[in-house]
Amino acid sequence: MLFILPKKKIPLGLSRKLSLLIEHVGENEEIRNCYDAVIIGGGIVGTAIARALKNSLPNCKAILIEKEGLLGKHQSSHNSGVIHAGIYYKPESLKAKLCVRGVDLITKYCDENKIPYRNYGKLIIATDPTEIHSLKRLYERGTENGVKELKLVESIEEIRRIEPKCKGFLAIWSPKTGNVDWSVVTESFGEDFRKAGGYVLLNHEVKRIKSSGYSVYPILIKCNENLFLKSKYAILCGGLHSGKLSELIQEDADGSHISNSKIMISMRVEYQLLKNESISTNVYAVPDLSLPFLGVHLSPQLDGSVLLGPSAVPAYQIEGYSDSDINITYLSKTLSSPGFQNLTKKYFSQGVEQLKRACCSGYQIKEVQKLVNISEENVVPGPTAVQAQYINEDGSFTDDFVFEFFQGEGIRTRIINCRFLPSPAATSSLAIAEYVCENVIERLK
Ligand SMILES: Cc1cc2nc3c(=O)[nH]c(=O)nc-3n(C[C@H](O)[C@H](O)[C@H](O)COP(=O)(O)OP(=O)(O)OC[C@H]3O[C@@H](n4cnc5c(N)ncnc54)[C@H](O)[C@@H]3O)c2cc1C
Repeated sequence: MLFILPKKKIPLGLSRKLSLLIEHVGENEEIRNCYDAVIIGGGIVGTAIARALKNSLPNCKAILIEKEGLLGKHQSSHNSGVIHAGIYYKPESLKAKLCVRGVDLITKYCDENKIPYRNYGKLIIATDPTEIHSLKRLYERGTENGVKELKLVESIEEIRRIEPKCKGFLAIWSPKTGNVDWSVVTESFGEDFRKAGGYVLLNHEVKRIKSSGYSVYPILIKCNENLFLKSKYAILCGGLHSGKLSELIQEDADGSHISNSKIMISMRVEYQLLKNESISTNVYAVPDLSLPFLGVHLSPQLDGSVLLGPSAVPAYQIEGYSDSDINITYLSKTLSSPGFQNLTKKYFSQGVEQLKRACCSGYQIKEVQKLVNISEENVVPGPTAVQAQYINEDGSFTDDFVFEFFQGEGIRTRIINCRFLPSPAATSSLAIAEYVCENVIERLK
């Protein structure tokens, strides 16, 4: 009989192998794996929540289930690596509050755990007079959100004192914006959870969430390889798969679902890399404030390279990292949804713009060259990521974090779904964990 063991009890190295081993029980056998809380999804959000739960309630028996062989394999390791200061987000939104709180928590965490990060700062630069109004609105937002040390830089000389290669005539300077490798942070949160006695189960995909019929552990979670777990509570942190996870919840024998007119779509995000040229700070264009995107940017990475771009076009499957990743069911569901159809009409010109950037690297480089003097020869293809967008039925974007706390009936009253946590969720991860745990700790005590 094999159980997953918490990390503190076994030597390093062996732990990961052992964490893959768990007692297998058939559906009809007595179910012996019972937990106070099951966290599904081992990205930065799931690991941060698991860690916070175990820190607050050391006796809570908690398990984190991840379908991949390592933590943070998707969005948490495929991103811009920026510690956002909290400038962009609408005042009073969850993004604004959790990001501003998250920056302080994450920098303190990195200091305490010796995780490398750099305060490279950020310039958001207006290069055209039509951008001044939006830039000033952004500055007001940032100030209202409580972003520290935010400043307007009102001449090219002053901008160039910060980064000599920059162009433009008006900019926001945010010295508190930083850069970090979010996959290292995710791994560290996972380690904390293990050390505190939490269980981590890798390579197991949750396939079904339903009622167990037991009053103490009413949730039954079925994973691949015929593994069944019972739990009092479940916290879903599936990232790109959060919609799919929600659909896996089967209330009763009739399998009734909560209907949702919104649709989650995956966007393929492509970066380029600037080689042999350095840049001392993050440089961003003024974004279109009607869209939840930050616009073209350059972000220095800790390894010395500089990310450039990105472009974003619809992916052909949930984890559609390349043109050959195609899933017909996902595609037909997406293409036939009113949300997607309205989105393409509503944002046709912006879509064409993204397509031009994705198809023609030179076009994207020219966009970046409006901000910074860089040489085209030094730009090479970079990494690809996948980002979720949560689209309303009328085709508009959901522009804030979305959590579903204990919504619906039956076992849903014991489930939290971290439904939509786009950027700046990595920066906000520790604040998100506080926010989610507040809602579950009282119930678990
Ligand atoms: C291109 C891009 C750039 C970004 N840049 C930044 C940035 O600079 N700064 C910032 O703060 N944020 C940034 N973000 C946002 C941030 O990276 C994400 O919001 C964050 O990583 C989301 O974390 P997550 O844990 O929710 O999702 P993920 O990291 O995607 O993790 C979800 C996990 O759930 C697992 N899973 C799914 N379904 C199941 C299942 N059925 N069973 C078991 N496991 C399952 C998946 O395998 C995955 O590991 C960026 C995002 C993208 C895509």
